[in-house]
Amino acid sequence: MDAVCQRAACLTKNDAAFVTSGAAGGLILSVAACICGDDTEKMEMLPNVEGLPKNEVLIYDGAFHELAPYWKLIRLTGARLVFVPPSVDAIKGAVNEHTAAFVLFPASLYEKGIPTCEESIPELKRLGVPVIVDAAAQLPPISNLWYYTKELGCNAAVFSGGKHIRGPQSTGLIVGEPKLLQNCRKLASPNCRIGRAFKTGKEELAAFITALELFIAEPEELKFGRQLAILTKMQKRFSSKTELKQQMNSEGRLGTYQPLLLVTLPEGKTAKECNAFTRSYGTPVDIGVYPPEFDMPDNVIFLNAYNLKEEEADIVVDAVLAYLAD
Ligand SMILES: *Cc1c(COP(=O)(O)O)cnc(C)c1O
Repeated sequence: MDAVCQRAACLTKNDAAFVTSGAAGGLILSVAACICGDDTEKMEMLPNVEGLPKNEVLIYDGAFHELAPYWKLIRLTGARLVFVPPSVDAIKGAVNEHTAAFVLFPASLYEKGIPTCEESIPELKRLGVPVIVDAAAQLPPISNLWYYTKELGCNAAVFSGGKHIRGPQSTGLIVGEPKLLQNCRKLASPNCRIGRAFKTGKEELAAFITALELFIAEPEELKFGRQLAILTKMQKRFSSKTELKQQMNSEGRLGTYQPLLLVTLPEGKTAKECNAFTRSYGTPVDIGVYPPEFDMPDNVIFLNAYNLKEEEADIVVDAVLAYLAD
């Protein structure tokens, strides 16, 4: 565990890191660490935070609550969630002596209508409030692994091991300040505290660090090109159906650096129905359906390739074409 965490810190250009069961586990652990500091008596009490001096966690109020409901998990620490009106000016009024941390959710999509990390973190630092950034899916670019901590100065940032890093889905990474990360570790297995429930085994640790090494070793352009080649292959096969309008974007839905293929299905077909079909057709395929918040036509599907192998492109296209023939 120590060796893997040290290597993860080094690879991600951070002072410290901790590998846990997922970004969700990382979020809960890092908030818990902000509530307890290095006080093991407090650690033993969680999720009972009654009488603890720091037992409130702030998040912005905003439309992202529906799109990224992970903030609800902060309550597992026992902390009381306080919703801050979405403006930098409102932060000062919301912070008090009970504030344990402020949790931010960066993504062009989630930050619609609320201040960005770039705007919020300087004010939170000025007020001395610990900042946790849930950047679970905010890769690539690879530099995001140190951007929130080293460039913006948040205290901890959390990433999923099973999304763009392509490690086991049961892994996640916390990076940031050594003290905070040490306290995350104290809250975790083998101790019988809140993080015991987010244990990572040796198998996951070995697989995670391998995935992280591969993710970082692959140059950004190659990563993008590999995914683009898979999507282009799909695009060519879809083009045999002239009624299908296609569009290749160079950004993921959350503003990440990745190619994304949008396909407009013929009138009368819907993305939702297509998804239900492809999930139960042959090898189950989860084609992308936009949630209503995106205001996209209901017959547009999106396809990404960051977790696909080249030979899997045909499986995806076969499933969608079978739906269209249905
Ligand atoms: C996916 C996601 C999570 C959960 O990640 P896991 O690694 O599955 O635990 C948490 N927060 C955000 C913003 C996410 O996108």
